[in-house]
Amino acid sequence: MADLVAIRGPAAAIPKDPKVNLRDLDREETRAWVVAQGLPRYRADQIFGWVHGKRVDSVEAMTNLSRADRQRLGELTTLRRLGVDLVAPASDGTRKLRLRTVDGQLIESVLIPNEGRGATLCVSSQVGCALTCAFCATQSLGFRRNLATWEIVDQVYQAQDLLAREAAAADTEEAVWPERLTNLVFMGMGEPLHNYNQVKRAIGILTDDAGAAIAGRRITVSSAGLVPAIERFGREGLGLEVGLAISLNATTDAIRDRVMPINTRWPIAELMATLRRLPIHRRRWVTFEYVLLAGVNDSDDDVERLAALLRGMRAQVNVIPFNPHPHAPFERPSPRRVAAFVDGCRERGLHAYTRTPRGDDIGAACGQLALEGEAVAG
Ligand code: SF4
Repeated sequence: MADLVAIRGPAAAIPKDPKVNLRDLDREETRAWVVAQGLPRYRADQIFGWVHGKRVDSVEAMTNLSRADRQRLGELTTLRRLGVDLVAPASDGTRKLRLRTVDGQLIESVLIPNEGRGATLCVSSQVGCALTCAFCATQSLGFRRNLATWEIVDQVYQAQDLLAREAAAADTEEAVWPERLTNLVFMGMGEPLHNYNQVKRAIGILTDDAGAAIAGRRITVSSAGLVPAIERFGREGLGLEVGLAISLNATTDAIRDRVMPINTRWPIAELMATLRRLPIHRRRWVTFEYVLLAGVNDSDDDVERLAALLRGMRAQVNVIPFNPHPHAPFERPSPRRVAAFVDGCRERGLHAYTRTPRGDDIGAACGQLALEGEAVAG
């Protein structure tokens, strides 16, 4: 029987603000709001550009608005942001941002310099997580609540502000950090497709040309296998705009039930059948994340089964050696075992790559830094 404990309910709702947070509105919503307030319609695109393109922190900075309109906006709206609780640099150049919500929750984003140019931000979509993946630090937080659209969007703006500050402060050639945030991955705290509406709206805002203008093809949404939401992702065309990554992590239901209890609701065969039906952009591949756990899912038989599961799919496999942390009873396989697993995948025709865990020395397992923050605060 399906394990109904696999998906927990939230402990709290998204906090309501008495004023409209302009960061929470996409372009169409900004237009509708502006018109509803009796402000001139053309103001909407100006306001959206100030909020999401120039990332201003105050309506006073919107200098092409009349004094009267600015005053009105100031009375009716807020530009509230997340608080920066900690910026933790790692020796490999990764920056982990621990951010504080208005109701005192800690979330985290990880900024990773790309090998070529630019940087990738790993974004959180929930406080804690409703799922209970056994290898994950976030799950031990429980499921506190979904993030609001503006809380997802502001993670990106905080990272862009950090990049701008670092670039301004750099006084040597070697110290120069990538100035531009080019890629987003929804692989931080939470299951993004479990907070579908807010994630979808955030993507709409972040890809808007008048906002951060991040190309949809440079955004990847990761899912642990929430089949109905994956079907919706395909049906609503998000799959034609942004990439999809599936956190697979096992090749048999017996093992996947254990490491990812959501599998008891939607087992591997159902997940794979859904993915094979998915309309995705013809240039895109589905990425499969495979966290390699020593002695659990890293055998030659797993390689064989993985190749069979993905046969004929436009699929890429990211093999991620487990990053040990105190909240999970697993070990990282030896480098030899990791190499044998990846080589085995390639010999069977899979496009497999090893993804080195980044920021090992700052607690790179998702949710770990937030957990440490709570331990310190508590
Ligand atoms: S791995 Fe992802 S989906 Fe699973 S519990 Fe952690 S945050 Fe949630």
